[in-house]
Amino acid sequence: MSQPHRFFVEGEQQLGGTVSIGGADARKIVRVLRLRRGDTIEVVDSTTARFTAAIEEAAERVRVTLRERVATSPSDAPALRIDVAQAVPKSARMEFVVEKCTELGASAFLPFYCERSVARRAGSEKVERWRRLARTAAAQSGRSDVPSVSAPIAFDELLERFAQYRAVFFAWEMAPRVALRERLPAIVPRAGKALAVVGPEGGFTHDEAAAATERGAEVLWLGPRILRTDTAAMVLLAVIGAFAS
Ligand code: SAH
Repeated sequence: MSQPHRFFVEGEQQLGGTVSIGGADARKIVRVLRLRRGDTIEVVDSTTARFTAAIEEAAERVRVTLRERVATSPSDAPALRIDVAQAVPKSARMEFVVEKCTELGASAFLPFYCERSVARRAGSEKVERWRRLARTAAAQSGRSDVPSVSAPIAFDELLERFAQYRAVFFAWEMAPRVALRERLPAIVPRAGKALAVVGPEGGFTHDEAAAATERGAEVLWLGPRILRTDTAAMVLLAVIGAFAS
């Protein structure tokens, strides 16, 4: 049998318990996947516990019973946990970053604003939207966890967070022109926690890059072309991932 479709639910669930799924997930189950009473889905709760769940009722809300615990294999847990600090870009580009970097395995998103940010300050509805997207992208890419998305912070506060990571990768187009394949093998930790930092459309200032270096960040050059901010985040994650595994 093919792998059942995976859905995320809130809270800590118990084997044998019943869960009611609403909204877009319920619509997907009923209208897109056309699942019915007796069909099986996979349910992942807030603690990332996974269950095989049988559909009891498939209507506007879908009611399922949690039948079996699914063991999580250690290989599900990435050796390197990588968070993405993204300078909030204009319009829908942040949505692209959240979606694609969730697929690429990001554990958390730290949106931030810096000197050359041009995007308007994101309100809480925007942040909620990014969180929903992270959830959908996690389910779609078969992840058993959902990356967190924090409310946007200022660059100075982001600098304070650097100390929490074993490595901080700071993408700066003015960095010394050394290829990633030369630099990354020595600095991508095999295990632990890393942060990838990408600037806004207008780029980072020299002062910002200097402050980041002072806090221990590795300033990285991503190649001879200037990538759009949303492209840069994806590239950085994909390339770091290749050296981490
Ligand atoms: N405004 C700048 C480019 C900004 S690109 C200019 O036109 O010169 C947006 C962000 O993507 C940058 O802040 C950086 O973090 C990342 N980026 C894009 N291209 C890059 C490259 N070649 N090397 C390193 N970082 C890059």
